[in-house]
Amino acid sequence: MLSKKLNKIWYGGDYNPEQWDEEVWKEDNRLFKLAGIDLASVNIFAWALIQPNETTYDFTSLDQTIDRLYQDGIYVCLATSTAAHPAWMAKRYPDIRRVDFEGRKRKFGGRHNSCPNSPTYLKYASQLAGKLAERYKDHPAVLAWHVSNEYSGYCYCDHCEKAFRVWLKKKYARIEHLNQAWNTAFWGHTFYDWDEIVVPNGLSEEWENGNNTNFQGISLDYRRFQSDSLLETFKLERDQIKKHTPDIPVTTNLMGLYPELDYFKWGKEMDVVSWDNYPQIDTPVSKTAMTHELMRGLRNGQPFMLMEQTPSQQNWQAYNALKRPGVMRLWSYQAIAHGADTVQFFQLRRSRGATEKYHGAVIEHVGHEHTRVFNEVKQLGEELQLLGDQIIDSRTNAKVAIVFDYENRWAIQLSSGPSVALDYEEEVHKYYRAFYDRNVPVDMIGVDADLSQYDLVIAPVLYMMKAGHADRLKAFVKQGGTFVTTFFSGIVDENDLVTLGGYPGELRELVGIWAEEIDALEPSIKNQIVFNEDYGHLSGEYQCSTLFDLIHAEHAEVLASYGKDFYQGMPVLTKNKFGQGTAYYVASSPEQDFITDFVATLMTENKLTPLLDSDQGVEVAVREKEGKRYLFVLNHNHTEAKFYLPETSYRNLIKGNEYHGESRIAGHDVLILVEK
Ligand SMILES: [Zn+2]
Repeated sequence: MLSKKLNKIWYGGDYNPEQWDEEVWKEDNRLFKLAGIDLASVNIFAWALIQPNETTYDFTSLDQTIDRLYQDGIYVCLATSTAAHPAWMAKRYPDIRRVDFEGRKRKFGGRHNSCPNSPTYLKYASQLAGKLAERYKDHPAVLAWHVSNEYSGYCYCDHCEKAFRVWLKKKYARIEHLNQAWNTAFWGHTFYDWDEIVVPNGLSEEWENGNNTNFQGISLDYRRFQSDSLLETFKLERDQIKKHTPDIPVTTNLMGLYPELDYFKWGKEMDVVSWDNYPQIDTPVSKTAMTHELMRGLRNGQPFMLMEQTPSQQNWQAYNALKRPGVMRLWSYQAIAHGADTVQFFQLRRSRGATEKYHGAVIEHVGHEHTRVFNEVKQLGEELQLLGDQIIDSRTNAKVAIVFDYENRWAIQLSSGPSVALDYEEEVHKYYRAFYDRNVPVDMIGVDADLSQYDLVIAPVLYMMKAGHADRLKAFVKQGGTFVTTFFSGIVDENDLVTLGGYPGELRELVGIWAEEIDALEPSIKNQIVFNEDYGHLSGEYQCSTLFDLIHAEHAEVLASYGKDFYQGMPVLTKNKFGQGTAYYVASSPEQDFITDFVATLMTENKLTPLLDSDQGVEVAVREKEGKRYLFVLNHNHTEAKFYLPETSYRNLIKGNEYHGESRIAGHDVLILVEK
């Protein structure tokens, strides 16, 4: 549980009073109360105001803000302000400024502009976090700590280069081990001294902003190192805070599928995961749901905070569509349905100037409450008040898990060949979506997750096999689990060195096949997955594309074969009995219809049933607590749709009305149902 002090779904958002004057502050509090807002994230970008020079710290304005909010019953999520350093610091201490991918020393400007290995940054950022924690440790308003903001970007400066060598020495101990891991005999890259190693950027091994590299080994390690470096700065601040407030949860807001950081590593260091959800108007709702599951998966299913979402529109996309009436409410409940225990906006009041002035806010530029957006925020505020503590701290308890690995994603993206069209995120989403469409709960898990609670584990395009993972998967199947993996899996180890002796390497015994070659065709060129005999819900032909593993069944049974080309008749879907369980191999990238029918088959085999049957576009998710199941029914259609309950009676927690049997839900509406 986040805090007993505010025993409900926290409701609020980013609040930047430093951009406004006293008259506006008073009005802010009135409007917050009117909207049911009980939490403000403050001090997110105020380092320059708090610390005007080397030795002065001035908390006057922050004191007033926190007191003023608390007097009106509004708690705070207190940020440390370290995501953008002061201009004076950048001028006096050049080491704090990053060096970019092209090797250019940055001047002052922007945010996320500090080098994570800068002695100046480490000193002043941790000092500020410590001073904040010391000052506000006993303030009753503080419910959570928000370290920095949306950590992102890499640095390629001399400090980072030196720290990278230290990181490498710790990892490899001897330079020979590094030469082996990076396969440096290729292109005569053998290193004799750690000091010969330079950062991989546009001046050395990489091009196209790091999307391509000559040496995957160094590029993967640099990503790990930069992710670790930023994480170390988080830990430094967190530890300063913990000295003073060991019991107040510490978080930092992550960004879902953001590619540059290994969030599974980050999740382990936070008390609670929080994240910023910014789908575009055409982002599939299943993809948003998948990202919520991923964020929930970072701390093994523990509820998370929805730290940011826009109440209306964003400013940084090409076309910043408004959320249509009812959609902000719908998507807020979607987050709660998948594990959020808070609903927070960016931002509470629209700023007047600079880059985010067209970003939506609870209080629009007009400044009063008579707006569509404010009314929708207020309605949701009333509903969350009514829900009280019923849902908070509940869990999902899924029987299906899909593996997602940020490092695997780096490795696939950095891989030169076999196809630029291979999209790891999309391949994972295709499988997720098939369960989502059937209203079956799914956990998104990392490679080191405990598998014992699952019946079915799916690992699409598991290109990189980390040490011990194959053994855990084998043990899972041996004990009766069902495992599915696909083309381009088991190919390399964590250094991107190919596992010799035939693909899919360490998974070969488990799936009972051998992949001899991998064909890669322009994505509009299709092959077919042909079933000579029906298998479960699978029958006839389906299309596949992008990559085509040419596989031989060793122990596995062949369920379907390719329909054409010189590998016509070779297996494309296989099933292998292994111990008490089963392992499937899908040798190409199938169309969604195949995955839908395959998932239906897997559900039958594993006795998995939908939470509820529903019309298309009606999502059903579940959270459970103390023997109670909360069924969330979310209608993503504009128009009324149907869903089907058992004949027992269910009560809708939001409006108190009852449902049973065949039921209707209005367009964009939400119900939270509990059995009576
Ligand atoms: Zn640096």
